[in-house]
Amino acid sequence: MSQFVSDFMAEIKAKNPNEPEFHQAVQEVVESLELVLDRHPKYRKFKILERIVEPERVIMFRVPWMNDKGEIQIQKGYRIEMNSAIGPYKGGLRFHPTVTLGILKFLAFEQVFKNGLTTLPMGGGKGGSNFDPKGKSDNEVMHFCQSFMMELFRHIGPNTDVPAGDIGVGGREIGFMFGMYRRLRNEFTGVLTGKGLTWGGSLIRPEATGYGATYFAANMLATRGETMEGKLCLVSGSGNVAQYTVEKVNELGGKCITLSDSSGYIYDPAGIDNKKLAWVMELKNERRGRIQEYADKFKSATFTPGDPKLKYNPLWGIKADCAFPSATQNEINAKDAQNLVNNGVYVVAEGANMPTTPDGVSVFLDSKILYGPGKAANAGGVATSGLEMCQNSMRYAWTREEVDAKLKGIMKNIHDNCRARAEEYGTPGNYVNGANIAGFLKVADAMIDQGLV
Ligand code: NAP
Repeated sequence: MSQFVSDFMAEIKAKNPNEPEFHQAVQEVVESLELVLDRHPKYRKFKILERIVEPERVIMFRVPWMNDKGEIQIQKGYRIEMNSAIGPYKGGLRFHPTVTLGILKFLAFEQVFKNGLTTLPMGGGKGGSNFDPKGKSDNEVMHFCQSFMMELFRHIGPNTDVPAGDIGVGGREIGFMFGMYRRLRNEFTGVLTGKGLTWGGSLIRPEATGYGATYFAANMLATRGETMEGKLCLVSGSGNVAQYTVEKVNELGGKCITLSDSSGYIYDPAGIDNKKLAWVMELKNERRGRIQEYADKFKSATFTPGDPKLKYNPLWGIKADCAFPSATQNEINAKDAQNLVNNGVYVVAEGANMPTTPDGVSVFLDSKILYGPGKAANAGGVATSGLEMCQNSMRYAWTREEVDAKLKGIMKNIHDNCRARAEEYGTPGNYVNGANIAGFLKVADAMIDQGLV
């Protein structure tokens, strides 16, 4: 680590104690940007790096609600409004028991660069709660969402801050929150994205992150004259991103052979075709069951429970060509990354945010595989949220084909931009540097133009 990075990180850690995921996200970006700062002294002069790591605003609040037994529950609520230099704050809400301020700060920080890459006018934000929707009734989820929005509504708006979904927040939760916002404000505006199709949602928004990650992988493969046709793919998670990754991989002629949740993973060497995928969607989105049931239903599959004593995840040791980590942060460590490379994986497109530890990223970069970091590879979700905002402003809806074509074009743009910036700054083929530099330049220049605010 250079002296500059180590000094900068010492200060970040002192000012933001007990936020390891935030430190990790900042360090990766700072390492990529050293050369940019050397080449363009204006960014140092205007202290852009020091300013960009500091959220413009952090909102923390109490979320009281009552469960079905009539017992009072208290959760923590957050919204990190990180940077609005290029547009309203934009980024998802995560409901998961592991949510902390540090995790949301890492996600909001990454979001700033990701949104900069999309070519759409969106700043960066993120929010959520340590509420766990798993095992809760629809009624409990509704009461929680309503209470969460009763505080959040005063901080957001279609020109200020436009949240979306993330882990634990899908169409059901967005619906409950939108309903309460509409009641409190007495207005129908595009304040959340991921809305239902009959009340302002965009076609392809639910599909967009998984479709986008697959398009990104296809773009990376194209640089070697290859396509997704016939590729064996490992997918982790079984939520929104994982499901639509499988759908798009199937469409492009590849074959997905794994899915997981926090209890373990299934391996189906016969492939998760569209019929099996429809069953998974019903299991996860309607019945809210566990992925283990897949192996009971389909005899070609086996289920392996998660083993917290293991220092690696055997899912990443299965022979394949491509990997789409689509569950959560730091799900691939150095050993997993090495297992992937040793077993033939040469394309990694991150649907999840920061799913690979820094040591794991080094393994991918050193082995020169095609590695698309989350900031770039999963930007299709927020990009299509941007398209939903556009349609809401026009009070108009594009067709499925129109939105998909725009998404495909945006992912190609992001891919090419990352590649060009990586090359320009002396690290050809390094999409990590490319994404960090391209996202940074857009936001940094806007910050300089707008003065010291
Ligand atoms: P989701 O629908 O809630 O699905 C999350 C999946 O990951 C579930 O299968 C879940 O299993 C698993 N998971 C979550 N936390 C886990 C943990 N600590 N350990 C093991 N498994 C875990 O969420 P999603 O929207 O697909 O999001 C997945 C990832 O994509 C996240 O990193 C998110 O930030 C990122 N992302 C999402 C979008 C979007 O548009 N939704 C956009 C960009 C990036 P359980 O059900 O057992 O918890």
